[in-house]
Amino acid sequence: MSESGAIGVIAVTERGRSAADRLQSAWPDRVRTFTGERAGEELRSAFAECGAVVAFLAVGAAVRALAPVLGDKHADPPVVCVDEALQHAVAVLGGHHGGNALAAEVAGVLGAAPVITTASDAASAAPLDSYGADLGFTVADTAPLAPVGAALLSGRPVRLEYDQVWPLPPLAPGASAQTPPESAAALLRVTDCAVQRSGDQQVPTVTYHPPSLVVGVGSARGAAAEEIGGLIDTALAEAGLAPQSVRTLATVDVKADEEGILRAAEERGWQVRVLPAAELAEVEVPNPSDVVRAEIGTPSVAEAAALRAAGQDGRRAELAVAKRKSANATAAVARLHPRGRLALVGLGPGARDLTAPRALAELHRASVVVGLDQYLDQVRDLLRRGTRVVASGLGQEEERARTAVAEAQQGAAVALIGSGDAGVYAMASPALDFAGDDIDVVGVPGITAAVAAAHRLGAPLGHDHAYISLSNLHTPWEAIERRLHAAAEGDFTVCFYNPRSRRRAWQLPEALRILGEHRPPDTPVGYVRNAARDDERAVVTTLEAMLNGGAEDVDMYTVVLVGSSASRTVAGRFVTPRGYTWNSAAETVP
Ligand code: SAH
Repeated sequence: MSESGAIGVIAVTERGRSAADRLQSAWPDRVRTFTGERAGEELRSAFAECGAVVAFLAVGAAVRALAPVLGDKHADPPVVCVDEALQHAVAVLGGHHGGNALAAEVAGVLGAAPVITTASDAASAAPLDSYGADLGFTVADTAPLAPVGAALLSGRPVRLEYDQVWPLPPLAPGASAQTPPESAAALLRVTDCAVQRSGDQQVPTVTYHPPSLVVGVGSARGAAAEEIGGLIDTALAEAGLAPQSVRTLATVDVKADEEGILRAAEERGWQVRVLPAAELAEVEVPNPSDVVRAEIGTPSVAEAAALRAAGQDGRRAELAVAKRKSANATAAVARLHPRGRLALVGLGPGARDLTAPRALAELHRASVVVGLDQYLDQVRDLLRRGTRVVASGLGQEEERARTAVAEAQQGAAVALIGSGDAGVYAMASPALDFAGDDIDVVGVPGITAAVAAAHRLGAPLGHDHAYISLSNLHTPWEAIERRLHAAAEGDFTVCFYNPRSRRRAWQLPEALRILGEHRPPDTPVGYVRNAARDDERAVVTTLEAMLNGGAEDVDMYTVVLVGSSASRTVAGRFVTPRGYTWNSAAETVP
């Protein structure tokens, strides 16, 4: 007979049984254990009799045992398998019918990681326990992680609340700031305010404390750590602020070795930041003191240090708690405003395994991805659900750069993507032209077309080389021509980007002619169309052949490399020797 609410737990080993006990104590009314010797039979019994199954068994063993009895996926109970080492809770069957949520709950109880393989969830599972960890978030109470994770995985509406916008990755789309409180099955909060007692909350709530507060302190020489710490704790508590949100304790340089201050910080796990009195004297504060000014050269220590440390790197900051005093100490608290984050991400030439893992991490990290349609199509399957995609067409570079910067200025985590490297004839420079110091910028290097092509051609970049774009849409031809002459005279290997389009057909032959004035007709030339893409085509030829009509199949998807006078063709490969005295130097090493 089926007990729809029961979770059948199959445990046939010692470790399995002790883990089963933990599930039993977490869910005393729901767990029914199956501990007979024959795992397969136990599993089939649980599958027939319970509403859900957790098996401390290998996935393969479970699949073999259940294969003959599998029925309709809507009617079968979900099955989760957990490995002996209790590392993974794998949703094996019925993922969308409670299995994914059950895997998350089991993982929560056992400290394992949920393994979800249903397509729509796999890419979106920003793990709740480490959400915002790279920004310094801490989880106020870990107990609600499992039920909130389960609500997210089963697609129930989850409400997101925050008091400031942080540059966070997207959560599953079920979690939204627009979810009305009355229909939310769970709540995620980002706040530097202290958590209410858990009984006050209607639904399971995970609270993240962001590192948004800086405590400023001053003290008389010899003030006790207990007094200083007590003053800070009361200041935070009375303002309803979470101590976990304090990122630093700041003070003036003459207090750098003040025992009481150092110990109060250490006991609370806070770093100490020491600022010169002259720097503090520049900070405008509500409660300056002439006595303090006369003594140490700044009219404020606590307020000024808190504001100054919170406002480092040009961040906006304000006082959250004005100066409070005890007999021998002062304390104040400043709150900083988080900054948006702009990642400039080059995806490499095409093939996914030539995209840096860090670039992929940035795509997951971003809640807004901006780029040209064709590059977005290249990575759309990688984006987490809930990521906002802003696509634009060719030729809209400036608009694309402005959009990305504006989104970051709103506080979001933005990735601006492009092919090759983002800094090579690409979006990084227009974006940084618009970006102020009010956003954080990170760059991820990508393999640029010339480098990808070089490996198809041989080793053409073994010595000095120059990149020249032949597009005269935004650069006057005279400037390009000057550089061509300089590169020709300098005997560089030259890489031509944007070599030829339907409307710009004469530039490449002209560029080759200029180089030909300075190097022999048999100089190797290589070009690669769609390097590292499906229809890649690589050709090694000579300058002479190129000048006699060989440039016809070069287009805007092609990069062209012209050798220096030292470059040669070796076994069909384009090689530029290292030159200098490389070989003889190696021989003379004693
Ligand atoms: N940021 C890109 C360059 C953009 S400019 C990079 O670092 O590679 C666009 C030009 O780059 C094209 O006209 C072409 O000359 C070259 N290019 C880009 N990707 C290429 C590829 N996969 N194969 C050949 N050439 C490519």
